[in-house]
Amino acid sequence: MTNIKKPYAGVQIEADIGNELSSITTIFANPNPLVGPESTQLRCPQCKCTVRTNVKYNSTPKTHLACTLLAWTCCCCCLPYCMNSCRNANHFCPMCDTFIGTYPS
Ligand SMILES: [Zn+2]
Repeated sequence: MTNIKKPYAGVQIEADIGNELSSITTIFANPNPLVGPESTQLRCPQCKCTVRTNVKYNSTPKTHLACTLLAWTCCCCCLPYCMNSCRNANHFCPMCDTFIGTYPS
């Protein structure tokens, strides 16, 4: 465990997960992993490495709804597909490519 002091939330999330790992072995059963909309630093439950997650964004029904609404009001109907806040953020380990969790939009 590194003791890097940085003023953003990722370090706090890493510390929380580290504490959970010592008591909870079935981390895969956790339906709400502590991931955010952006790449998050945490400990991979598979390879146990402290990593910064790879984030892949998926479109959701909400994305398509926003697209439809924008198409009615203006011409930038593809905008929701470019906005991360309108899509689910799926976090993967960059080391072993294990799916870690989803941050719903
Ligand atoms: Zn991993």
